[in-house]
Amino acid sequence: MYSPAILLDLGAGCDIMAGKKKGEKMDGKYVRAIFPGSFDPITNGHFDVIKRGAKLFDELIIAVGRSPIKNPLFTPAERVEMITELVAGMPGVLVESFDGLTVEYAAKKKADVILRGLRSLTDVQYEFQLAMTNRAVAGIETVFIMTSEQYGFTTSTLIREVAALGGDVSNLIPKAVYKRVRQRLEELKTKK
Ligand code: ADP
Repeated sequence: MYSPAILLDLGAGCDIMAGKKKGEKMDGKYVRAIFPGSFDPITNGHFDVIKRGAKLFDELIIAVGRSPIKNPLFTPAERVEMITELVAGMPGVLVESFDGLTVEYAAKKKADVILRGLRSLTDVQYEFQLAMTNRAVAGIETVFIMTSEQYGFTTSTLIREVAALGGDVSNLIPKAVYKRVRQRLEELKTKK
């Protein structure tokens, strides 16, 4: 019988790791990942995945999809702007928007992997299919980061809906994003 703790010990002691500094890749490979999504708006759950992903990859491109979504709150350009402010000062983290197929964008950026977050078993089912399809059509691997427990129920869709009905979503999204959400909802109210 073995335990994960024993596996970790073996890893740390094995020859292939000898002489390597923490974080240094075993074959010196530069790994670029893209993290695609709608991010309307970016949530603390997304941001948690970004912070943890940034530690795993040399370069992480947050890719905001420009394809239309139901009842959007922000334009793709606004989402890119908000995320760019949030990740300012995080080395190797970039933000862009993209159109069309994620795998085509990944190929254009010469990305090695697609990063996705997992919240629940429902996510697993959908993400599993998506990852298999992306690997079948483009040969690209998907890497998953499991949500931190406190963000397991956080979705952009719910945040848009709850905020529009006057619910308090201030502890589910970054402070600056919350301000923009409030502003946008006010603008929409006065337009009506
Ligand atoms: P999509 O429109 O594909 O659902 P999202 O912007 O909602 O795009 O999400 C982008 C990625 O972030 C997806 O992989 C999604 O599973 C992940 N994600 C969203 N919310 C969370 C969360 N609270 N915790 C972990 N991952 C999340």
